[in-house]
Amino acid sequence: MADSPLQMRDLRFVLFEHLQIEETTGLDQDTTEAFLEAGFNYVSEFLAPMNAKGDQVGCTRHEDGSVTTAPGYKRALTQWQEDGWGGMTHPEEFGGQELPQVLASSMDEMIIGSCCAFHNYTGLTRACANMLLRRASQAQKETWAKPLVNAQWQGTMCLTESGAGSDVGASVTKATLIEGDRYKIEGEKIFITSGDHDMVDNFVHIVLARVDGDRPGVKGLSIFIVPKFRLDESGQPTIKNDVFCAGIEEKMGIHGSVTTTMKYGEKGGCEGYLIGEQGHGIRIMFDIMNEERIVVGQQGQALAATAYGLALKYAKERIQGSSIKAGKSITKEKVAIIEHPDVRRMLLTVKAQSEACRALLLKTSLLIDAENQAEGEARQALSSRIGFLTPICKAYGSEVGFQACSTAMQVFGGYGYCSEYGVEQLVRDARIAAVYEGTNGIQAIDLLFRKVGADQGAELTKLVTEIGAFCQTQAGEAGGSLADELKILGEHAGIVGSVAKHLGGRLAESDYEGAALGATPFLTLVGNLVSAHLILEQAFVAEAKLAELGAPASAEERQTWAGDESERAFYTSKVETARFFVHQLLTENHWRAAQIKTSDRSPLTAAL
Ligand SMILES: Cc1cc2nc3c(=O)[nH]c(=O)nc-3n(C[C@H](O)[C@H](O)[C@H](O)COP(=O)(O)OP(=O)(O)OC[C@H]3O[C@@H](n4cnc5c(N)ncnc54)[C@H](O)[C@@H]3O)c2cc1C
Repeated sequence: MADSPLQMRDLRFVLFEHLQIEETTGLDQDTTEAFLEAGFNYVSEFLAPMNAKGDQVGCTRHEDGSVTTAPGYKRALTQWQEDGWGGMTHPEEFGGQELPQVLASSMDEMIIGSCCAFHNYTGLTRACANMLLRRASQAQKETWAKPLVNAQWQGTMCLTESGAGSDVGASVTKATLIEGDRYKIEGEKIFITSGDHDMVDNFVHIVLARVDGDRPGVKGLSIFIVPKFRLDESGQPTIKNDVFCAGIEEKMGIHGSVTTTMKYGEKGGCEGYLIGEQGHGIRIMFDIMNEERIVVGQQGQALAATAYGLALKYAKERIQGSSIKAGKSITKEKVAIIEHPDVRRMLLTVKAQSEACRALLLKTSLLIDAENQAEGEARQALSSRIGFLTPICKAYGSEVGFQACSTAMQVFGGYGYCSEYGVEQLVRDARIAAVYEGTNGIQAIDLLFRKVGADQGAELTKLVTEIGAFCQTQAGEAGGSLADELKILGEHAGIVGSVAKHLGGRLAESDYEGAALGATPFLTLVGNLVSAHLILEQAFVAEAKLAELGAPASAEERQTWAGDESERAFYTSKVETARFFVHQLLTENHWRAAQIKTSDRSPLTAAL
């Protein structure tokens, strides 16, 4: 475990000390520890060792449309199936283990942090199974969801077409009724993750298509199960459906994850089965998309966490230059680069960003667990909060995660740009997360126009009020050494409130273009605030622990006291990381607020 770049100590801190998941999940710490240990062993044995090779070799498509995955992938998936990981969150009656989402998300971090591309096979299958188990008929569940529960078959989500990317409603894939829930499907989908490969025997493509004569736009779309192999009379998947992988993409990163062009019904023989009601396609597809949006945010966060682990190790080993403490001199003793203030700044930035995002993503997963148990108004309140946080998890997690990977790469100097240390792969792998599952631009529009605009800012106001109340309560009870940080957080809650009011004003005046210009900085602004709140909550937990351990009050004395005793150093670092986030990352919101409130509209008017 000592050599792994995965940040297991902080993961445990979030689960047990910060979020105290036992209260919501009912799982005792020993059970969760056993789960984490088994997960860590699996990713260390099967995923981490194949990550670089998979990146180099990638996937290969053959003339007949079949795809061979990179070395090690098949073995890793077979073990995944044998260990039963695929069924983590699914109901027991379908062969799952009914574990809480927050545990699945913890496992996701370990998988992604070890081999991001592999996660695109298992994560999608899980999300497709979840959707089917909620939305499909009993017969469809038995036939198509059950084999997905433990990843015996592969699930895919098929929305994108060459003329329908962000504008999903422009889809032209066609569905024509045969009888009952059976439809003939005709069309082509592009960029389909895991559309064909050699690790499973069958595929359950979840396809958006428009039934003949249905209205244009997203509301006219329906959703279908389109298997690669249909069932014969004895219920066996032996009949080849007219589904064909017509090509795969050459990509910047995630080379181990195959991205396919899928043709449905080229020879007129593709059959699909309607899920739910006709015209409810996009609503149902959102079950998969919302789950995947959190996963994609985690792709940024988990890769950043791994990048931090690698960069920290390198910075301690790489000797270069002399200390600047007594002024610059080439005659002085050479030091490890971790001694240089600028390198420390970079490392702490990566640490703070990945830890803040971890807190945000796991907190949101825990809210999902709470929602699953709640009823009535409580459930409604949780659902509204999760809906509000989902675009932030996706876009903030992916954007900040990518920046963090890039910063970590900088710590390596020229070696970072070369493949030897693996950090450049993390940067390439992380970049896609800002694009798929709805680009970050689309997430920002979702947050501003749908989540904030639609309820006149009610959920945002609630959140900002909660953060303000946290600042007041903590300042009264235990402010102590974090009093300045609480003050800054409170001030920034006010800034977010005032920016939201400003954007609300633009919406009220029907200045939609003006509002849209502020959407992306607004999402980051809110992401920074929410993350600062969570990381400051963590600092209070760590402060309490330090008090228990007998820490001295002054920062200087505390550094010496913490020494390299790992637990003392861990909690001391948690407090310092939170301070850094609040003083140096949250305060970026000043210029973001100015950027949003500016009267400059040059992007709308400049000659481009
Ligand atoms: C590796 C990979 C895997 C993928 N996997 C899948 C998959 O499994 N299933 C699937 O269905 N799709 C998948 N996609 C497709 C992905 O979801 C789309 O690429 C993405 O949604 C953007 O669509 P587009 O590429 O057509 O870009 P466009 O929609 O053309 O967007 C181009 C730019 O314009 C912006 N833009 C577009 N419309 C608006 C608007 N209304 N307002 C503001 N800005 C806008 C976008 O934000 C973006 O910056 C995958 C893509 C890749 C690269």
